[in-house]
Amino acid sequence: MTESSPNLAHRSASRRIKAATRRIRELTSIAYALASTSHPYMAHIIPMRRCNLSCTYCNEFDDFSNPVPTPEMLRRIDDLARLGTSVITISGGEPLLNLELEQIIARIRHHGRIAGMITNGYLLMPDRIASLNRAGLDHMQISIDNVQPDEVSKKSLKVLDKKLQMLAQYADFHVNINSVVGGGIKHPQDALTIARRALELGFTSTIGIIHDGDGQLKPLGEEERRIYYEVKALGKRGYSRFNHFQEAIVHGKPNEWRCRAGARYLYVCENGLVHYCSQQRGWPGTPLSQYSRQDVKREFLTEKSCAPNCTISCVHQVSYIDHWRAPQTSKVFPGLPPEPVQDKELAHIQLS
Ligand code: SF4
Ligand code: SF4
Repeated sequence: MTESSPNLAHRSASRRIKAATRRIRELTSIAYALASTSHPYMAHIIPMRRCNLSCTYCNEFDDFSNPVPTPEMLRRIDDLARLGTSVITISGGEPLLNLELEQIIARIRHHGRIAGMITNGYLLMPDRIASLNRAGLDHMQISIDNVQPDEVSKKSLKVLDKKLQMLAQYADFHVNINSVVGGGIKHPQDALTIARRALELGFTSTIGIIHDGDGQLKPLGEEERRIYYEVKALGKRGYSRFNHFQEAIVHGKPNEWRCRAGARYLYVCENGLVHYCSQQRGWPGTPLSQYSRQDVKREFLTEKSCAPNCTISCVHQVSYIDHWRAPQTSKVFPGLPPEPVQDKELAHIQLS
């Protein structure tokens, strides 16, 4: 399918207008977060645990479950809006397997919130992209792990490039491509190839760091470090500018920061429970329907023992809003540190 010149001109103008209004909504949400600490800034919500892929490092999918019924998902979106959540990002499993996903996105936008999703991109087609446009999707992130598929991951540029071209042609929403570098990836230079292709197609690019699976934060090797800084420099206009925490990880050092999970960031699983993050499920494990501003206030001031070695980029980024204020006055020990950095850590990095 190709588009005529008037259609392309119209699409380009429409994209610019949507991008400008999205930017205003984002700046407003940040101002709201700076003005008040009593609401979440971002939530990840899972409408579907099933995935069409099976990356060997991932602990966040199954191959059998049904989608959460849409009326229940809409209630959960209403609950997140009740708490004042500014950004709601749909994750999985693979969200595009849920054929009613657009209703959930539309409900997020109905509440005036910013709607995002994380996908492996395999199921994207022009019609589906058009329907995501109509639903009001604001952001999409696709993680690409390597150039050629291998036994670890098939989230590969070679397989996904056609999907990226479709997005470049049809998507009205912002697209970010995340590449990775670190112990689990065979060819560090792949991250550079992926980032360059992302920018060439008009997307933003970020890079995540993964570790060897022996339980320690390890500095990146020389080649990995070089690639990391090169990709970071390429993507400096993207979200990577908020990834200062990765500097310590590059050198294998723990971070000093205040994790605001359970307060500024919520992870809502397929069972409708609120968890700190994808890797600390069960803490606090409260049903979203019962989650209150009191819970948000308590968790805002609660130190998490897993924070120094944490690599979960979205929580670092969200917590940065409040890095200068409100020291934490109580402490919890989720997962009993130091939790081994095994495959599940890798999964986290890919997904967030
Ligand atoms: S990392 Fe993403 S694509 Fe891979 S199995 Fe997990 S949910 Fe599916
Ligand atoms: S793993 Fe990271 S994001 Fe999750 S609770 Fe611990 S410090 Fe916070």
